[in-house]
Amino acid sequence: MTLEQVSPENGAGALSDGSRQINRVAAQRAAADLLAALGADLESDGLRETPRRMVDAYLELLTPQPFRPTTFANEEGYDELVIVKSIPFHSLCMHHVLPFHGVAHIGYLPDERIVGLSKLARVVELFARDLQVQERLTTQIADWIQAQLAPKGVGVVLEAEHLCMSLRGVQKFGATTVTSALQGQVRDDPRTRQEFLALTKRSEP
Ligand SMILES: [Zn+2]
Repeated sequence: MTLEQVSPENGAGALSDGSRQINRVAAQRAAADLLAALGADLESDGLRETPRRMVDAYLELLTPQPFRPTTFANEEGYDELVIVKSIPFHSLCMHHVLPFHGVAHIGYLPDERIVGLSKLARVVELFARDLQVQERLTTQIADWIQAQLAPKGVGVVLEAEHLCMSLRGVQKFGATTVTSALQGQVRDDPRTRQEFLALTKRSEP
């Protein structure tokens, strides 16, 4: 589980801004080689198209959808936390290239700008479609909101199940990893921090 194993030339850690270059032909060849090396008979009916399907799946999982992060003037001077809870997301763990999935809770304390609420879901998607670690995904979402809105504070909590943990290794099925990134008043003001954490607390037992 070391980041050093990931080198820039293998494409891992590429920016989630659509700049990722995926070589479909090379990927399909490599997928076929991997399957063959794993003992699969690529001439059999069910497997013949599998290298192509594998690459299609990875392409979809690793390609973020661009969107316009429209922000608006905070004309009403709204100065309480804005929170969107339980945004479903999935991503690929960069250490095992297996999915991790769960929900994101995002909150910010507006200053002069506010953002359409659906954009907060889109920003999760923007960074989730990458080879990721949950900690980095959490921070990237918070940093993006900070950069776009310059709010008084921002908080992001991610709860996810990692298939590399539930299906292999320790095989802890259903274990949830929780990460958070708190910035500005959400981090520094005890009342706001408390409010954010209370509002994003898990509702299920
Ligand atoms: Zn993993």
